[in-house]
Amino acid sequence: MIPERIKKEINRDEFYRVCCITGRMDNIVLHHPFYYGKNGKQINEIVVPVTESKHARVGGDTDSVHNCKKTKDRAKWVAINRADINELKIKYPKFDWQKEKDRLNLEFGAYE
Ligand SMILES: [Zn+2]
Repeated sequence: MIPERIKKEINRDEFYRVCCITGRMDNIVLHHPFYYGKNGKQINEIVVPVTESKHARVGGDTDSVHNCKKTKDRAKWVAINRADINELKIKYPKFDWQKEKDRLNLEFGAYE
């Protein structure tokens, strides 16, 4: 479930019409890049747009976000750089958001 606040943002923000991995605009689905807690519950308010073939675990590309660590990390990189990291630190304090952001920016460079 995506919170209403985020749904509204998704509806008005052009960012969500374009795959954050390929730049494609067809068959966009929303991917939740982050999980939290010992049961690994997905963090609902963090979503990125990905074209279907780059998302599917089965029947999609071998380098889809659910099949390939590098693509998975690239989606995380986009998400964490767009997110309000201070808000995340407060809401999900047991995860080291700064360390994760630093790690991803080291791998993929500065996010623009
Ligand atoms: Zn997904």
